[in-house]
Amino acid sequence: MLSLKDIKKDYVVGDSTVSALKGVSIDFRENEFVSILGPSGCGKTTLLNIIGGLDRYTSGDLNINGKSTKDFKDCDWDSYRNHSIGFVFQSYNLIPHQTVLSNVELALTLSGVSKSERRERAVKALEQVGLGDQLHKKPNQMSGGQMQRVAIARALVNEPDILLADEPTGALDTETSVQIMELLKSISKDKLIIMVTHNPELAMKYSSRIIKLLDGRVIDDSDPLDKNVVEPIKKPEKEPTKADKKAAKKERKKLKTSMNFLTALSLSRNNLMTKKARTLLTSFAGSIGIIGIALILSISNGVQLYIDQVQSDTLSSYPLQITKTTASIGEIMNTMAKNHEDSANHDKDKVYSQNAMGEMINTLMEETKVNNLEKFKKYLDDNSDLKDLTSDVQYTYATTLNVFTESDSGVMQVNPSTLLEDMGYMSSTQMEAMSMSGSMGGMMGMGTDVWSEMIDNEKLIDKQYDVIAGRLPEKYNEVVLVVDKNNEINDYVLYSLGLLDPSSLNGIVRRAMAGEDISVDSKQHVYTYDELLDLKFKVVPTPDFYKKKDGVWEDMTGDESYMKKAVANGTEISVVGILRPDEDASSASISGAIGYRHDLMTYLIDEVDNSEIVKEQIANPDIDVFTGLKFKTDESVADTDSSSGTVSDSTADTESKADKTVDNSDTDKKAGLVAGDSSMEIPEGMTEEQYKALMEQSG
Ligand code: ADP
Ligand code: MG
Repeated sequence: MLSLKDIKKDYVVGDSTVSALKGVSIDFRENEFVSILGPSGCGKTTLLNIIGGLDRYTSGDLNINGKSTKDFKDCDWDSYRNHSIGFVFQSYNLIPHQTVLSNVELALTLSGVSKSERRERAVKALEQVGLGDQLHKKPNQMSGGQMQRVAIARALVNEPDILLADEPTGALDTETSVQIMELLKSISKDKLIIMVTHNPELAMKYSSRIIKLLDGRVIDDSDPLDKNVVEPIKKPEKEPTKADKKAAKKERKKLKTSMNFLTALSLSRNNLMTKKARTLLTSFAGSIGIIGIALILSISNGVQLYIDQVQSDTLSSYPLQITKTTASIGEIMNTMAKNHEDSANHDKDKVYSQNAMGEMINTLMEETKVNNLEKFKKYLDDNSDLKDLTSDVQYTYATTLNVFTESDSGVMQVNPSTLLEDMGYMSSTQMEAMSMSGSMGGMMGMGTDVWSEMIDNEKLIDKQYDVIAGRLPEKYNEVVLVVDKNNEINDYVLYSLGLLDPSSLNGIVRRAMAGEDISVDSKQHVYTYDELLDLKFKVVPTPDFYKKKDGVWEDMTGDESYMKKAVANGTEISVVGILRPDEDASSASISGAIGYRHDLMTYLIDEVDNSEIVKEQIANPDIDVFTGLKFKTDESVADTDSSSGTVSDSTADTESKADKTVDNSDTDKKAGLVAGDSSMEIPEGMTEEQYKALMEQSG
């Protein structure tokens, strides 16, 4: 079923070539337990990786079920890896914070089986390796032997024909090693197991065939397969044949209900849909961050050195992000991919519809989870050794940084920027979605956030930037302006900061679309360092937008003279320095044009905490301070939540409730709310704006 013909593998490293395999030919039986022995560096891992489709051979051929793999495309290799091969490594490679069960289930996400079936099969695989009673333990609560069993279960759960194990007992004591070997031996009754080991005794005792490798060649094979002799197939009688298995697989696929788009829509209430839509947007933004890292990892093969060099730099601009809501990308991609894979059971005589959207939405809903960020932040704070492993940990807050400029003609809001909206380019909901996903803008190279928090790691900033004028900020109310490598600032930023007059852009997109002749300032403006170091802004905490009138708090943002006073009373922010990315830096951590310090945010949170309006709301948790009316009860809120029936994580419920209750004055708890309002439920008698404003203040 599997045969290697004169496989050679060369690694080119710089000018020299390493021949890891120098012509290896082996035929394997369908069921046998093969051990590969040989000194370190002789090519064992390389051989295993080539058999498993993790690495490509340089010359020769690998035949799978009589089929040459010479013309295999990437997707063929993917399919082979996913369906025919299971891997077990010396270092179990389990995900530490996931339960044993999830670890095994995870291996099935890419093979298109439903959630319930995934669970069922994972439990079965774990029972098979003797861990049926340990499903909910975490890997770090287990012994090495148990972890290796989990890894074996994970390898088996896809029902592969071939199990590859690279020194599976390398990290285990003798007794545990023996148990693992027993387990592998029992599995080999109906599978091909190819195991690399350092331990000749274990190999002799348990495996049915030993192949010795030296310097890239086979020097001994204890039981070579002679193709001229027809060997009896050792398959146990009751075992289903391959055809049976395939038929069963097809049956399962067919059975899998695929809800169509309309059903999905009608099942979800209007409210749920918008709420979910927002959650989805956010989780997608988060995913892009993760995909960015995945890309970095995927190109690392072969350029590891370079990657190591730029990693700390790069990861500061593509950081690991943990958002309040997340979705499993594996699952989402799986759904996307599956539609291509599914073999059509109809003729090609007409054109058929392919129902993808309902499935897609279901997957998104099902896989969207809510993280307990409060606990997570506590964990980060309590584990100081994490600090040595990270460049910096940054928190985003739901508290809005309201920045204004003052001029003779009045006050202008510079952050959150209303520029795109003023231009008629985006609706405010789109803006909201964008600003919730600051990372997305950053990744696309067109951040809409002009203001961004600098990382707290001065060394890294020093490495990435030159201070070309002034100095780095030392106080909470000091900021820096960031220019590009050519000392330029793009005009979007200049308009946003009020350095160019944004009113000339009003409705420009709409006008252009209406066919009007429009002109955008194309002159190059020049600013001296001193002019820019003279820039002043005002920060106004959101509570200052409200005034108490007749016992309730009224939004005054529409009142020009009130706002003028509020801005005049705001905190003055000065630009104290200008930064330019260092010529050699491969990446830059400040995504905006203005970088502010972390303590500006903590200052603002304190201001908000101590404001009359927040104090009043905290003192009267049942009464909405904006209207003087009662909030909707928790019950009705919970009711809406459960009607969604999709929040699968048990923490989700408490989390989302915490979201809706104004019950803490602890600043720490406000941390990390990138998507703080993604699961909001607006109380009766309150506009969305009001509610949001309140939620922003209360965390
Ligand atoms: P083993 O698993 O038997 O210890 P390997 O298969 O890992 O040996 O390595 C065989 C030879 O190929 C070694 O000389 C090793 O240095 C070389 N080699 C393995 N992987 C790479 C690689 N990615 N790039 C360059 N050389 C490699
Ligand atoms: Mg090795």
